Amino acid sequence: MASGIQAYDVIVIGAGFSGMYMIKALRDKLGLKVLAYEAGEAVGGTWYWNRYPGARCDSDSYIYCFTWDKQLLQDWEWSERYPEQPEILRYLEQVAERHDLKRDIQFNTRVTGAEFDETDNLWHVHTDKGETATARYLIAAVGSLSETNLPQFKGLEKFQGKWCHTSRFPNGGINFTAKRVAVVGTGATAVQAIPEIAQQAKQLTVFQRTANYCVPARNGKVDPELINARKNDYDGVVKRIKESFFGFEYNFIPKSVLEVTSEEREREFDRMWDEGGFAFWLAYYQDMFFSQEANDLCADYIKRKIRKTVKDPVVAEKLIPKGHPYGTKRQPLDSNYYETFNKDNVVLVDANTDGPIEEITARGIRAGGKEYEFDIIIFATGFDAMTGPLKALHVKGRGGRKLGELWADGPHTYLGISIAGFPNFFTITGPQSPSVLSNMPVSIEQHVEWIADCIDMMSKTGKATIEATPEAQEQWGAHVNEIVNGTLMPRANSWYMSANIAGKPRAFLPYLGPEGVGGYRRKCDEVAAKDYEGFTLA
Ligand SMILES: Cc1cc2nc3c(=O)[nH]c(=O)nc-3n(C[C@H](O)[C@H](O)[C@H](O)COP(=O)(O)OP(=O)(O)OC[C@H]3O[C@@H](n4cnc5c(N)ncnc54)[C@H](O)[C@@H]3O)c2cc1C
Repeated sequence: MASGIQAYDVIVIGAGFSGMYMIKALRDKLGLKVLAYEAGEAVGGTWYWNRYPGARCDSDSYIYCFTWDKQLLQDWEWSERYPEQPEILRYLEQVAERHDLKRDIQFNTRVTGAEFDETDNLWHVHTDKGETATARYLIAAVGSLSETNLPQFKGLEKFQGKWCHTSRFPNGGINFTAKRVAVVGTGATAVQAIPEIAQQAKQLTVFQRTANYCVPARNGKVDPELINARKNDYDGVVKRIKESFFGFEYNFIPKSVLEVTSEEREREFDRMWDEGGFAFWLAYYQDMFFSQEANDLCADYIKRKIRKTVKDPVVAEKLIPKGHPYGTKRQPLDSNYYETFNKDNVVLVDANTDGPIEEITARGIRAGGKEYEFDIIIFATGFDAMTGPLKALHVKGRGGRKLGELWADGPHTYLGISIAGFPNFFTITGPQSPSVLSNMPVSIEQHVEWIADCIDMMSKTGKATIEATPEAQEQWGAHVNEIVNGTLMPRANSWYMSANIAGKPRAFLPYLGPEGVGGYRRKCDEVAAKDYEGFTLA
């Protein structure tokens, strides 16, 4: 080994939920020499980067956490149903502290390239600090939503005010008091941020490309009795979420919405609406994802709610989603979102009716031929989801083949965890795994444990490399697409369909298995039990 090049058993990229647990599993359970590189200056990933006002999880806090630290499940007290970003970050800091994770993380370091060397079967990993390190295994824990998407608006460099993407807010925040503020975007992040910014700003203008179906979050303190009941039954909770469809304690109503009376339907809709959170999205009648007719009934219910809440009928009409079925885009949770458009200081500029953004000017934004003036522009324009952070690694597999080129038409993986031609390289919650269509800690823990077991098997059996076969990869891709093509998901221009970014090849990014995360887990376990069926071990 050339001097100056550090050698590890495993290099992990990223120190959010995924990277943190991966370090724990490999170092403390398997005794391996592990290093994680993290671009940020602290642990937390999503919860380190996303500091915009109103940033909070949309998963219920009692299941938006690690389940492997059983003592912490008992000891940690979440303040609300959906805690805010600083609280989640504190929680992750606490995990890092308890398990002494930071000593194996190199912060402020971005991985800029990695190639598999077929002569020594090692990954050679390069960073923006000019370092190179080697490892037998390379694990991308880079997150699904970590590569910021800032559309190439003409003229941005001319803007004389402040601008910022929601995932790159300055530590300490931005003071909106007495300012004229623009928010560009109306996805899940914007739906959280807009009501908060509207309370501070002198004037808030929201630029909407696509109206979304928002359902109430119903955040607040959780009843102490319920908290205790859950703590007393955490083993049961964990079992249920692992076996569930989406990693929550929800199940579809096992009926067609078209079979039931309108009274029963309204009662169920009201129940889910009142319960708040993802219940409306993920615990509805089982045919909502499949039948346009069934879906329309659900969409109509939400449209009625919007019309009832938003006082100005012209604004309400702009906020009514058009052209995509309910549930086919990431569900934003609403805490006074629709009510915010009743405020005198809030204006909605809709791309369809008022005209799209044409350019950023020195003083603001020109849309539909009109110039709007601002002191601050906030881009809530989301992420180059799932494939973005992986392509940005510039990894090269066997024969120097570049991942970016192999994925020119969209992702190709086996189980969303492995890529043919990239030996000993694993992706936690990678494309074509349930990932973003689940409560993510559940999917993260499943992948981390599967990868750790695989690496353990490799060392016990003295194998040097494991990689997906091209055939298994092709079959998996065909399966992912066959399933999704039987649903309404492809009818939306969503980021799930890669459609939020101009020029990104249209492909469904996650996996919507017929039996959800529970079925996917069984499939992965079955693959391992059949001596890693679909993989070549050498
Ligand atoms: C605003 C927001 C709200 C969310 N709410 C929920 C929710 O309610 N429920 C839910 O299940 N999920 C939610 N998510 C998804 C969330 O990303 C996951 O739940 C989870 O935090 C992912 O953890 P991770 O470790 O896999 O990825 P991340 O938390 O994204 O961490 C990845 C880390 O990798 C680092 N990294 C990436 N590339 C490199 C590189 N080249 N070199 C070095 N470091 C690199 C990044 O800096 C980052 O810190 C939300 C996401 C966002 C953005």
